[in-house]
Amino acid sequence: MIDLAKMIELSDVHAGYGRIEVLRGVSLNVPRGTVTALLGPNGAGKSTLVKVLSGQIRATAGHVHLGGVHVNDAPPDELARAGLCTIPEGRAIFPNLTVAENLRLMRGDAELVYQRFPKLKARHRQLAGSMSGGEQQMLAFSRALITDPAVLVIDELSMGLAPVIVAELYEVVGELARSGVTMLIVEQFAETASAVADQVVVMTHGEISAGSDLATVYFGGTS
Ligand code: ATP
Repeated sequence: MIDLAKMIELSDVHAGYGRIEVLRGVSLNVPRGTVTALLGPNGAGKSTLVKVLSGQIRATAGHVHLGGVHVNDAPPDELARAGLCTIPEGRAIFPNLTVAENLRLMRGDAELVYQRFPKLKARHRQLAGSMSGGEQQMLAFSRALITDPAVLVIDELSMGLAPVIVAELYEVVGELARSGVTMLIVEQFAETASAVADQVVVMTHGEISAGSDLATVYFGGTS
């Protein structure tokens, strides 16, 4: 039976690239309005899971539901209409456009973004590709502020960023969570993730190997 309280629901999902199977039976529930952090060593399959959720690659077996809707075969534009917003690894901003031009492409209220991230306002004429990693992640995050998503999936939120920037981004994560957005965040650091996550799960070798219990994450090892 489908539970509408489970905003993201994966049941025994398998997926990979050609004949290489990466996800080997992943089951995961993210309840509506909660934050789940997904941890795991390099190559575990975290980005692959994000790609399945965002419709970039198909599950070869199992089921993916978003808000109770079966979305295994839904293309990315349909997923976006269903309220899904993905910030992929690499952030998917246009490096050769200015900050203002990037925001215009997101078709939303740039002022809202500038209020939240004054640093972006100060740099609105700068080419996005010439900004620091943290500023680029702020710009990528703007999509989540502008498009008012129901579900936000972020790959490698704090990758390579200074702690002060990470803290600023997690403040926004907290605000979005309080406004009812459901989030799945791929994170490298258990400490960072545990500060805001309602649930922490660990993936190793394409399977969820530990969940929810932070003690398991810290002491069970993530490599
Ligand atoms: P990281 O933390 O290093 O980003 P990850 O947990 O996100 O790792 P994935 O990027 O999902 O891991 O990769 C899982 C496995 O799938 C790896 O062995 C990787 O080499 C392989 N893989 C990823 N993308 C492709 C692809 N396009 N073609 C073939 N294999 C791929």
